[in-house]
Amino acid sequence: MGYDYKKCTEEIFEFSKCVQGTGVFAIGESVMEKKIYCIEYGKGAKKLFLNGAHHGLEYITAAFLMRFLRELASAYGDGTDFFGYDVKRLLEGVKLFVVPMVNPDGVDIAQNGLDITNRYHRRLISMVGIHSFNRVWQANANGVDINHNYDARWSVIEKNPSPTKYSGPYSESEPETKAICEFVRAEDFDMLMAFHSQGGEIYYDFDGMAQEADRRAAERMSRESGYPVRQTVGTAAFGGCKDWFIKEFGRSGFTVEMGHGKNPLPEEQLDKIFEENARIILSAMTTLCNQV
Ligand SMILES: [Zn+2]
Repeated sequence: MGYDYKKCTEEIFEFSKCVQGTGVFAIGESVMEKKIYCIEYGKGAKKLFLNGAHHGLEYITAAFLMRFLRELASAYGDGTDFFGYDVKRLLEGVKLFVVPMVNPDGVDIAQNGLDITNRYHRRLISMVGIHSFNRVWQANANGVDINHNYDARWSVIEKNPSPTKYSGPYSESEPETKAICEFVRAEDFDMLMAFHSQGGEIYYDFDGMAQEADRRAAERMSRESGYPVRQTVGTAAFGGCKDWFIKEFGRSGFTVEMGHGKNPLPEEQLDKIFEENARIILSAMTTLCNQV
């Protein structure tokens, strides 16, 4: 069994049961009416929003975020450092909001396909013209690529619903995108980080709007992880979550492409790439703590 919605949800509730000072709530529902959960952890005034699995095949990012929370909480509980970072200081300066799985339908479709009895099965076949969805599916259950559905120079790449890169009939048309946008508008985050796979890269800009401080923060993450800092070009350059956050709020937004290989990355790779990605978040938390 892979890391699907059920597994992720179990881990979310297990975490909130075992760790003091956490909260769990739903920020909205997917097309197929799965709740999109958020975990709140930390006591600080600075608010950092972490999210994963915008794309179906990238569920390793959800598994990573849950493991990061567990190991962070366990270091805090034991009073030990975490890869050399002072966890107590970080959690006193920063509050984390973590949505590990933005696209639960996409993750489940990518792993298990859709049963013929599922009412979305026929609909997706007629929309996208393929019969087998697992191993290719990045979109939500409407065939919309959520990470091209944000209002940041939104434009059409694919003309029709597709396993990947269809940006939808209009920006923020999808319930998953809407849930994230409404949540972000309400919470007024200081920083946003979206985790994707793969490539081993860090992105920090949208349309030249990022500040010099954001570039420096990205350079620090790069030194911690060995991932180079990149500028987006081509179809990856618009309509994404961090693009919208930078454009809309003028604050720091980052995309991290974790790991190397072909999606879906094997879950065993998480052992290898856990530290480099944990260090990226710890570096981001440090940046926030050091802001006045
Ligand atoms: Zn992605």
